[in-house]
Amino acid sequence: MAETRHSKVLIIGSGPAGYTAAVYAARAMLKPVLVQGLQPGGQLTITTEVENWPGDTQVQGPDLMVRMEEHAREMGAEIVSDYISSLDLSQRPFKAHADSGITFTADAVILATGAQAKWLGLPSEEKFMGFGVSACATCDGFFYRNKEVVVVGGGNTAVEEALFLTNFASKVTLVHRRDTLRAERILQERLFAHPKVALQWHSAVEEVLGTETPPGVTGVRVRDVRDGTESVIPCDGFFVAIGHSPASELVKDQLELHADGYVKVEAGSTRTSIPGVFAAGDLTDHIYRQAITSAGMGCMAALDAERYLAGIEEVLDDQDTARD
Ligand code: FAD
Ligand code: NAP
Repeated sequence: MAETRHSKVLIIGSGPAGYTAAVYAARAMLKPVLVQGLQPGGQLTITTEVENWPGDTQVQGPDLMVRMEEHAREMGAEIVSDYISSLDLSQRPFKAHADSGITFTADAVILATGAQAKWLGLPSEEKFMGFGVSACATCDGFFYRNKEVVVVGGGNTAVEEALFLTNFASKVTLVHRRDTLRAERILQERLFAHPKVALQWHSAVEEVLGTETPPGVTGVRVRDVRDGTESVIPCDGFFVAIGHSPASELVKDQLELHADGYVKVEAGSTRTSIPGVFAAGDLTDHIYRQAITSAGMGCMAALDAERYLAGIEEVLDDQDTARD
């Protein structure tokens, strides 16, 4: 028979939001269960140095996330390696079906599923995915030792990816559709000063060019967005770093979402449109999207869940008293 496991609080996601929620919920004696998903540790596991986590001048993203996991375990959270494939928020207890076949039921759910990398949506990008097209320099940069690569995007991720790739590649061209970057000043300064970096402003990538056998990238065709002229930038690798979309697939037909897919929460809280369901981190935040803000929201979600459960218990206690 399929296994069912009940907890007071189910946390879905193991990024800074999920693990922080787990620490707080565990310390509130709620015995939370946290399901990690396909990327244990979340987005910070695909980066290297993190320089803006308070208390650490510099820490490797994956190391920080291992520490957060250990912290959550130490406080008493149960960490489960599994993936939630569907979630039913229409009845109580809430039900989450996992890939392993286990059904997790819970009185309160904290959603901390974060965000996923966006793609340009070009057929050629899909064709060469894994054969020269990547969205993770930390994962794939090593393959481009002494080769030329192109990065597209203008935010922190694109600039960090470009700088990271200079450790391997002989040349890194950053392609951006405007002539100003969104990235933090300190990162921009490092980028502009780097001798291996070239900048291609006002340009949109139209096609990834490559060979069929063996499959591999040979360049990207870009269009100048001002006058439409086209040119080819030769390269062996193409890195897409154009931002992230919220991972709200599980709840898209059940909770109120913003037009761009972020889960709506009541201002100043993590309460979603269904009582007992809370959302934290990049899943709900289209503005800040930082490790520290996600962790902060994870804390809020656990405190909100604790208050919600106390409220439920008060109602149940009142009903018991009325019956006596
Ligand atoms: P995420 O970290 O996105 O984690 C989401 C979690 O949900 C994952 O564990 C995933 O496995 C899980 N999940 C998703 N779907 C399911 C499911 N169906 N079932 C179970 N689990 C599921 N921020 C900084 O502050 N400083 C930095 O230096 C920095 N560098 C970055 C570098 C890169 C390359 C990237 C991509 C981001 C960086 N960020 C940085 C942003 C930061 O990583 C995010 O803001 C933060 O990780 C968001 O945390 P989160 O907990 O909301 O979600
Ligand atoms: P982002 O800040 O949303 O930037 C996305 C970039 O990609 C923008 O420059 C955007 O161009 C460009 N872009 C979007 N769609 C495009 C398209 N279809 N074609 C071409 N270009 C496109 O995303 P991000 O850089 O991934 O950062 C996400 C969040 O994580 C941010 O809050 C960021 O601060 C955080 N983060 C922080 C750090 C850090 O603190 N060191 C590191 C990485 C990420 P326009 O500028 O023209 O819109």
